[in-house]
Amino acid sequence: MLELKNIKKIYHSGENVVALKDMSVKFGNKGFVSILGPSGCGKTTLLNVIGGLDAYDSGDLIIKGKSTKSFRNSDWDAYRNNFIGFVFQNYNLISHQTILQNVEVALTLSGISKAERKKRATQALIDVGLKDHMNKKPTQLSGGQMQRVAIARALVNDPEVILADEPTGALDSHTSVQIMDILKEISKRKLIIMVTHNADLAQEYSSRIIKMLDGDIEVDTHLEESDGNLQDSKFTKFKKTSMSIFNAIGLSFSNLMTKKWRTILTSIAGSIGIIGIALVLAISNGSKILINGKVSDMLSDSPIHISKVVNNSGGFVENTNPQYPDNSNIIVNDPTNRKTPSSHQNIITKEYMDYINKMKVELKDSILSISDSRNLNMNLLAKRGSKIVDIQGVYSHEMPSKKEDFEKQYELVGSTSRMPVEKNEIVIIVDSQNQVSKYWMDSWNLKEDDVKNAESLVGKTLAKLVDNDNYFVKEGNIFRPINSEASKIYDDTNKSLELKVVGVVRPSKESGDNGKVPSAGIGYTSKLEEHIVNKSLNSQIVAAQKNSDFNVTTGQKFSDEAEKKSMISALGGNDIPEELTIVPSNVEGSKQIKEYLDKYNEGKSDKDKIIYEDYSKSIISALEMAVNMASVVLIALAAISLIVSSIMIAILTYVSVLERTKEIGILRSIGARKKDVSRLFNAENIIIGFIAGTLGVGLTYLISIAVNEIVHSQIKQVDTIAVLAPIHALFLVGLSIVITLIAGFIPAKMSARKKPVDALRTE
Ligand code: ADP
Ligand code: MG
Repeated sequence: MLELKNIKKIYHSGENVVALKDMSVKFGNKGFVSILGPSGCGKTTLLNVIGGLDAYDSGDLIIKGKSTKSFRNSDWDAYRNNFIGFVFQNYNLISHQTILQNVEVALTLSGISKAERKKRATQALIDVGLKDHMNKKPTQLSGGQMQRVAIARALVNDPEVILADEPTGALDSHTSVQIMDILKEISKRKLIIMVTHNADLAQEYSSRIIKMLDGDIEVDTHLEESDGNLQDSKFTKFKKTSMSIFNAIGLSFSNLMTKKWRTILTSIAGSIGIIGIALVLAISNGSKILINGKVSDMLSDSPIHISKVVNNSGGFVENTNPQYPDNSNIIVNDPTNRKTPSSHQNIITKEYMDYINKMKVELKDSILSISDSRNLNMNLLAKRGSKIVDIQGVYSHEMPSKKEDFEKQYELVGSTSRMPVEKNEIVIIVDSQNQVSKYWMDSWNLKEDDVKNAESLVGKTLAKLVDNDNYFVKEGNIFRPINSEASKIYDDTNKSLELKVVGVVRPSKESGDNGKVPSAGIGYTSKLEEHIVNKSLNSQIVAAQKNSDFNVTTGQKFSDEAEKKSMISALGGNDIPEELTIVPSNVEGSKQIKEYLDKYNEGKSDKDKIIYEDYSKSIISALEMAVNMASVVLIALAAISLIVSSIMIAILTYVSVLERTKEIGILRSIGARKKDVSRLFNAENIIIGFIAGTLGVGLTYLISIAVNEIVHSQIKQVDTIAVLAPIHALFLVGLSIVITLIAGFIPAKMSARKKPVDALRTE
């Protein structure tokens, strides 16, 4: 059945040791062969070579007439699993498994169903007299009992050869005899090759004794009749072994369960990195929710601007010229002409103004104020002392016409102030500190004495307003302000409108804080504006300006159509404003106004759309960008902790591999493939990765609760800042598994690569 032909085995550690020199021997298909010989003569080596645990250097091992020269790893694995059963001196049981499981493992590798496995393993244990110990761990058994487990394991796959290396070496003589009896019984059906030091036992039990010396046979009591049939049954291919991933997970799970604390600590190590990333994700997610909810609410009653130019997303128009250009071209920066590829030009039409006027009625309660800006140029003359002066470049703002709106936005300064009502009534706007600027004083040609207090200003005529036709005189193509007749016009109440100061006002506390209303200049009524536009629409200068492509007050050519339009507007030649600012009265109002404005654009071509600048939207997108950027940085930091914890896992896996080398050897000796071994460790790492991931995610949820509690106690408006999204939680568990797998991959590979003999030899 087995034949060794000139087998040579040399060990190359340090100096070369010839363990087997040119050994040839034949074995039959049953019988009890004892191998005797002094220590170091090569007995174990012989068994390992026969059992396929170690490779021979030259010669040939012939199994049922089949040469093993061309055997590949998988053939050897299958050979060990199907054909050979091992019994070792030190039992080699897997300590974290019950004895039943220990016996079952061999069957697991040959892919036998669970029920069948259990039945056969139980029977094998009954056969060796261990019926009552099935569920004990090896450490709970005596030496003789453990050796019987080993024998049961060797027999359970019904191999043809049992190889026993000093099976009684660690047993007392009484127990030794019991083991020998069992082996003797088996040798009636199978071939047993046993190495022993006990010559008496060998003499008593064996059918054949081979004495070895220095790697070769010294004496062989070969007796044909006791050796069974040398004539062989034919060689049949071995069934290939394989451990399913489920069995691998089961085996790993039972291993992890016996080392609960190690497993928990490893998982905690692994979860640290996951917690880091999970917290960053939770906080960035939470802040986005916060920004889109609370912050957006807080910002959303800010003014809605309809400017001449906006960018398409409704935000500010940014300068898109490249920074530090590499050419020498000089660029003229004209803020009134901010056109970028992504910008949109709002052209407010009569139709749109009608739509806005309808809104004033429909959404009365949502609107705090609507102010239009048309850069209206006021022709002003003032009397300072005895001189008539021309007032240029003043700030002016339309005041709310409803009392309640006015009072919401402004408060009166001084006892004599009141809000302007009539077209000839104006107010002077100071800031919250009652200040006016030096520039303002200069533009109005006022001295400090003129503005001592509010009371002294109220009742004064600050200037007189003159119509275009009375103000401008045509000289050739150019219109110039009248100078010579200025005092005549000033005194003629038909030609000029007296502008009387009726009050000094400043922004109210509520609106002043967020800059919703201007805090400088003069305030006039909408009646004044109507008056100016009415008088100007048909004025000569407007008509002339409409027909010229140059500025009729300076003679300068316009650079584009927009500039000309602005000029016409400034001269009061346009009853439609260029820009609008709508101040909502509250958050809800802001929403309604925006909805109303959005509705206008439905079905309009892009060109005709009116897009408002939504400050809250651009602030929110800026905030979101900041959060995203912070998250990237934080995730980079968390990734470092992930790497550190991966290294920890790699080290722990490596230690676990070292610890389990023996188990690897045992598994290999009963036919496990390299693949099965790495699968075993991968399964273990998957389990650890899963535990670490769930632990990390679970702890993050707990930490989030604490973080939210603390933040809420500090900032009342913020309920939650850390919210881990379920999708992120799932992703992180997956990530944890992948990372643990990767970290353990190399140790797992290393352990799988170990030669079975080397693995077995480690203690
Ligand atoms: P025995 O089992 O008869 O005591 P072994 O087969 O274990 O002897 O060893 C035979 C010889 O080979 C001894 O000299 C031993 O030192 C040597 N040997 C065994 N295993 C190794 C090894 N892995 N590396 C180097 N030398 C070894
Ligand atoms: Mg030995």
